[in-house]
Parts: sequence; C-alpha cells; structure tokens
Amino acid sequence: MNLPWITPADRLSALPPYVFARLDELKAHAREQGLDLIDLGMGNPDGATPQPVVEAATQALQNPANHGYPPFEGTASFRKAITDWYFRRYGVELDPDGEALPLLGSKEGLAHLAIAYVNPGDLVLVPSPAYPAHFRGPLIAGGKIHQLILKPENDWLIDLSTIPESVARQAKILYFNYPSNPTAATAPREFFEEVVAFAHKYEIMLVHDLCYAELAFDGYQPTSLLEIPGAREISVEFHTLSKTYNMAGWRVGFVVGNRHIIQGLRTLKTNLDYGIFTALQTAAETALNLPDMYLHEVQARYRTRRDFLIEGLAKLGWDIPKTKATMYLWVPCPPGISSTDFALSVLQQTGVVVTPGNAFGIGGEGYVRISLIADCDRLKQALQRFEQANIRYAPALVS
Ligand SMILES: *Cc1c(COP(=O)(O)O)cnc(C)c1O
Repeated sequence: MNLPWITPADRLSALPPYVFARLDELKAHAREQGLDLIDLGMGNPDGATPQPVVEAATQALQNPANHGYPPFEGTASFRKAITDWYFRRYGVELDPDGEALPLLGSKEGLAHLAIAYVNPGDLVLVPSPAYPAHFRGPLIAGGKIHQLILKPENDWLIDLSTIPESVARQAKILYFNYPSNPTAATAPREFFEEVVAFAHKYEIMLVHDLCYAELAFDGYQPTSLLEIPGAREISVEFHTLSKTYNMAGWRVGFVVGNRHIIQGLRTLKTNLDYGIFTALQTAAETALNLPDMYLHEVQARYRTRRDFLIEGLAKLGWDIPKTKATMYLWVPCPPGISSTDFALSVLQQTGVVVTPGNAFGIGGEGYVRISLIADCDRLKQALQRFEQANIRYAPALVS
C-alpha cells in the first residue's frame, strides 16, 4: 500500500529510469515464455576469479583479526599494493597515504564523488553516451548536466571545441572514460593533453574512469590521465578489479590522484560506510600482484571473442572496426529503427540480450552495445539465431 505522504526525495525523482532494471523485467518475461536467453546485455564478466586470489581470501577469512571493522581508508598494505601497481603500470609515483583510496567498487566512488563535490545547480560536463554513474551521481547531487554528444565521425572522442565558452567557464567537473564503455573507443595521449590544458584554462576538476586499463589488445596500452603533466593537480582516476580480475561480485575498486580531491571523498565515505572487508582487501592485494600471465589470459579471451563476433557480424552486413580495448562491441542499429526497438526485437525474435545505446544517454541512440561475456560457442548460436531471424545490417540507401 502506498501512503501519499511517504514520498522519495526530489533527488530520486530527478533520475531517469535505470534501463538495466527495465531490461531485467523483459528478460524475466522472456524466460517465463521458455526462451533460452543468451545474455550479452550487462558488463558482467563471465570468468572465474583467479585461483590465487580465491585462496588468499579463503585464508584471510580464517583469521579473526580480519573480522572486525576495517580501517576507514583501507588497509595500509592494500593502499601500498595499489600505488606499487600504479608505478609498475604507468611509471607514476603516488603516496599510498593520501593519493590512493580503496572503494567498494568504483561505481560507488564515481557517484559519491559527485555528492562530495557537486552543489545543487552546479554544472557538470558528461559525455553522451556514458557509463550511467557518470551522470547519475551528479544528478543525485542536484547538479545540472551539460551533455557532450559523442559522434562516430569523431571516433567517439569528446570534441572540446564544441563546448561553448560560457559553459566551459561555469563547469565544475568533467567526467570521462577511455577506453570507453559503451563505445569501446580509445583516446590517444594527445587527447588527454588537450583535456588537461582545457581543464586548467577553465578551472575544471577532471574525473577519469580507467576501468578497462588492462582489457586492451594487440599491444595497445591505454593512457592514464595521471601520466599527463599537470593532471595530478586537478584530477582523480578510478580503477576497478571487477573486469580485469573477474571480481565484479567482490566489490573492490580504488581511486588515485589529487590528495585534496580524494580527501573530500574520504570525508563523505567516513560518514556512509566502513570500507571493504579486510579479508577481501588481502585478496585484492594478491590480485594486483599477480604475474602478467593472468592479464594475458583475460586479454586473449576477450580478443578471441571480439574477432569471432566481428567476423560473424560482417557476414550479416555489419562493418565493425576492431576494438583496441574493453569487453564490448558498439554496433549500429539497422537504419530506421531506434535502439530500444532494435534491442527489443532482437530479444523477442532470438532471445539474445543486447543493451540499447540510449541507456547510456541520447548520444547512444542508433546503437546497441554487445558485451563479450559468453564463449565463442554461445556467440555462434547468437549469430545463427540472427541469421535465422534475418536480422542484418543494410546501410541506408543514398537517394
Ligand atoms: C564496470 C564499470 C564500472 C564499475 O565497476 P565496479 O568497480 O564494479 O563498480 C565503472 N566504470 C565503468 C566504465 C564500467 O564499465
């Protein structure tokens, strides 16, 4: 029973519906009808957590010293593991006591950062399409979003020259993410340099999400924002163990970068949570210290699937460029159909779940995101069902 005087706060009504939740309803409905779903919708890695990480967790669980409240800011040894890892990967030296903060997964950090820094009415620059926490966090905080519409002709890179001078002057924060979820686009180092110069000029705090730093292929090495001279004064960068180490359910991520910005997030979080279960921090430390062989295995798995699916989709008329990173393909809908309608029709006709691009903002309209979270046998079935249902891509006729 709904009582009319029990109403959620305005900050909740400001949120557009969470598309994944709606997709879940449709999936449940399709399952009830007996469809064998091939779920390529979520960004939920399908592999197992590396065995040494599971073993470290199991052992740490047995130690009663790990059973109490963890330290607010994470254990000193996990923070040290983070900064050591950062130095190994990017050659950037960070202070484990102020420039690294463990998070309950990067999503909470991305959203809470906005609560810590955005006042009602503050202007936040967010690309469209974007990972939902990048705009939902600022919306919950009461911020105003200026969407930076990304375009295929610009390789899905932010075009800073399209930002009006008055908007740039007002903006407080820029969220961005390369390699990108959902577009799978990557950004060259020069792009990061331009963003840093822009942010210094207009006094904008930079929030970079580098969740796919390790899921890169064919020798490509993504850039960390913190490698760029001048970035550290104005930026933070978010990382996660979810994707690289198949640890999505463990809820472990971290933020690195400017100590004053991190301090604000830490102060907020001290009032909200107690941090990560100590046993899991021990396990996470083990993950960051794994030999590169583990990374290469994960990379090889996604690369194989990428190549398989790109080739299969090519036979159905799609020309998808080889992505250099992430676990996604960003696939145009056949002309004349919206991304929601296309995703729905694919689900109903084939039982294959893909995510409509507009779930990531209006800039994602006309595309769907396919996650490479099933093995090639399953992807093959998906392709066969596409073929049977005559789902293919025909470019628009030029009149
Ligand atoms: C998966 C993902 C996250 C969330 O990671 P968690 O650490 O599991 O919360 C954050 N950002 C992007 C871009 C992602 O794709």
